[in-house]
Amino acid sequence: MKFNPEKYRIPDERMKPFIDADEIWEYINNAKPTKERVREIIAKSLDKNRLNLEEVATLVNTTDPELVEEILQGARTLKERIYGNRIVLFAPLYIGNKCTNNCQYCGFRASNKDAIRMTLSDEEIVQEVEALEDNGQKRLILVYGEHPEYSAEYIAHTVRLVYGIKKNNGEIRRVNINAAPLDIEGFRKIKEAGIGTYQIFQETYHPEAYTWYHPSGKKKDFEWRLTSLDRAQEAGLDDVGIGALFGLYDWRFEVLGLVRHTNHLEACYNVGPHTISFPRIKSASGLNITDKYFVSDSDFVKLVAILRLAVPYTGMILTAREPADIRRQVIQFGVSQIDGGTKLELGSYHASKNEHQDLNKEQFEINDNRSLGEIIDELIDHNYIPSFCTACYRLGRTGEHFMEFSVPGFIKRYCTPNALLTLTEYLVDYANPEVQQKGYKLIEKTLGELDGHQNTLEIRRRIERIKAGERDLYF
Ligand code: SAM
Ligand code: SF4
Repeated sequence: MKFNPEKYRIPDERMKPFIDADEIWEYINNAKPTKERVREIIAKSLDKNRLNLEEVATLVNTTDPELVEEILQGARTLKERIYGNRIVLFAPLYIGNKCTNNCQYCGFRASNKDAIRMTLSDEEIVQEVEALEDNGQKRLILVYGEHPEYSAEYIAHTVRLVYGIKKNNGEIRRVNINAAPLDIEGFRKIKEAGIGTYQIFQETYHPEAYTWYHPSGKKKDFEWRLTSLDRAQEAGLDDVGIGALFGLYDWRFEVLGLVRHTNHLEACYNVGPHTISFPRIKSASGLNITDKYFVSDSDFVKLVAILRLAVPYTGMILTAREPADIRRQVIQFGVSQIDGGTKLELGSYHASKNEHQDLNKEQFEINDNRSLGEIIDELIDHNYIPSFCTACYRLGRTGEHFMEFSVPGFIKRYCTPNALLTLTEYLVDYANPEVQQKGYKLIEKTLGELDGHQNTLEIRRRIERIKAGERDLYF
């Protein structure tokens, strides 16, 4: 792939092309997953080392059921050993679905005349955010189509608006973004508005497949998209999320593409992506693709486990595109964030719509329609601590996943206490008495496990302060 740094206004050599499809295929075609090699690779990851492309290729080629089970077990162990049992919760908020692109898999694409187009007005954004706050949400990701109306200024405006909306004890403490790639100046404006993560999915890392799925509009340009997070870094925005839309091309290739992208960001900017997302194609209005590359449930579980082992200190996001049973299963292999109470129809949070999904108003179909309350109830039943923590971001502790992973005691000192404090807030403000009781029991149990740690007394004190009415306490 020829790359022209001038065209992308990247000032130096860091912007070499970093996806070479032939090279990735060579890795996949040459990898031999012998028992010894697969075990060696799992052990390397459990020893807190990042895997290289040859090692990831070996794992994606593994089909022997016994070895696949060992990969799954490896990912489970890594997650338990390193991250413990916290799950961070968020919700997506679709701001507008106007779009000038023609992604063949998306219900919002320009050529889909059935799509009902709208952009939330400021008043509607306020209504939506208040409804989300009333449910207990603290972290949002704002989502936009690609359209001249959704400029960097407009995105920054919506971010500021959302941060300013407070209802009762509700407030949004972290606003992430999923929107089209910007230029460096645009990323700067968004950063100034105080966003958390800027998330952009490459969709497919295979240049030819990419061209086929994106026939027109600005998104047609593979390189413009591939280099977007480099421009973000140039603008000083180092909290970024990457992802691939699984089902467009061979899943093994995409896994290597994601790892290659991670390597690139780490090598050039010293900071890897904050999160990796791995959405699978779901039904959408006028979906125009074949099922040739659709990923089976068993391959999906396998690829999540491989990603966990490959990039042990990157957050992993699993969304309500997947049904509850798959979410339950996949979560144990290293997922750190999930959405809860998700509604994709524009303007539907405050209207409690979406009981019957209307694909013409949504980007795609979601398969886990449970409310945030139901999800929290189940997480607690399964011994996960639901967390709304936003402390690191607000204290400027960037690269927190790396710190969780590499700084001894970081999780006990910060993550677990903050998860318990935000869970307490949720239980006091939003939970029914049954969930409250279960939640307090889990908090007590977790405190018991932390016992002896210097923080425990202070965590208890702060929990009592929250019960007495204070909010937003964190370490
Ligand atoms: N318009 C921006 C863009 O394309 O980057 C914002 C993101 S788009 C609204 C969010 C993501 O949804 C896309 O990047 C794509 O990966 C995913 N998506 C689109 N159609 C989908 C489908 N049918 N099933 C699952 N995910 C889909
Ligand atoms: Fe537009 Fe994004 Fe949908 Fe593509 S994925 S049609 S860019 S909203």
